[in-house]
Amino acid sequence: MKACVDIGGTKVAVCLAPDGQVDGQGRPVLGERLSEPTIKEGAENALSEQVLRLLRQACEAEGIGLDDLDAVGVASCGPFLKKDGALAVVNPNICGGLAGPERGLPNDWTAVPLEQPLRAALGGDCQLRIENDCVAALEAERCWGALQDNDSCAYLTWSTGIGVGLCVDGRVLRGKNGNAGHAGHTFVSDRGGDGALCGCGNRGDVESLVAGNALARRIGREAEELLAAAVEGEEQAQAEVDELCRVLGRLIYNLVATLDLEKISLGGAVYWHNRDYLLPRLRQQMDDKFPALVDGFEIATAGLGGQVGDYAALALVSERPAACCR
Ligand SMILES: [Zn+2]
Repeated sequence: MKACVDIGGTKVAVCLAPDGQVDGQGRPVLGERLSEPTIKEGAENALSEQVLRLLRQACEAEGIGLDDLDAVGVASCGPFLKKDGALAVVNPNICGGLAGPERGLPNDWTAVPLEQPLRAALGGDCQLRIENDCVAALEAERCWGALQDNDSCAYLTWSTGIGVGLCVDGRVLRGKNGNAGHAGHTFVSDRGGDGALCGCGNRGDVESLVAGNALARRIGREAEELLAAAVEGEEQAQAEVDELCRVLGRLIYNLVATLDLEKISLGGAVYWHNRDYLLPRLRQQMDDKFPALVDGFEIATAGLGGQVGDYAALALVSERPAACCR
C-alpha cells in the first residue's frame, strides 16, 4: 500500500493507493480522501503532526498500521530548505514569520520541519519522497495526464499561491534546493500598490497580484466571488479578471520564451473551478507575443483535473511509464 500526501497553503489531504489497481483510463485507483484545513497555529511541528494523524486515520480505515505502508509520496507547497540535512517547508502562505504580522498569518514560523518528523514516524523501511507540489503534479501530468507526449512542458497551479513545475528536453528541473519553478515570486508588472504584499516579503510579484490569497487583500473581493461575478457577466469583475489573465499570461509567455516549451497544463482551485472562463482568456494572451516563440505552444487544462494533487503525490513513489522517467 502506498500513501499520497498533498500539502497546500489552504488544505492538507491524504489518501491511500493499493498496489497494482488501475481504472479504465489506466490510472492508479485512489482510496478515500481525507482532507483538513492546513494547520497554521501552535508549535512548528503542528503541520507534520497533522499529516501523521491523517495518515494514521487513513490506515485505520483500511485496517492497517503506519508501519504497513510501503511508500509515502508527499507533494508539498514550497519552497524548501534543508535543516540538519532534512527538508523543511518555507511556504509564504503557511509561515507567518517571513513577511511579518502585516501579512496576517497566526504564527511567526520561518520554516516548518517535514522530512525529519515523517521519517522518524514511518521508519527506515518505508520509501519517503517529498517534492515541490508543482514538480510532483508535472510528473503526474506526464505519466497519466495532459503532458504524456511532451518533453518540454510545464505545469502551473493557480490556487492559494502560484507555482510551476518545469520539464525541458525530458528532464524535470529541480535546482540547488529543489525550488526550480517558483515563478510566482517573479515580477512581470509595476502595478500592485500597498495591498500587494506577498507572503514571501516581495511587493508586486506575480503571486501577490493574482494568487487566490491575494485578491481579497488587494482588490477587496475573494477569488471565488470575483470569478463567479465575472462568469455571470459583471463588467467590473470581468475587467479585474482580464487584468489577472494579463499578468499570468505574461508569466506564461516568459516561461515559454525562456525554456522553449511546447505545452503547459493548468490546475489549482482558482483555475479549475473557472476553467471554461479562464482558458480562452489565457490563450488570448499569447496572441500579441513573439510568434517565433509562441507558435506551436499550447495551453491546456490539467488532464488529471481536480485529482491532480493526489496523483502528484503518487507519481513520486510510482513505477511509471518509461516516458516519465527520462
Ligand atoms: Zn512572493
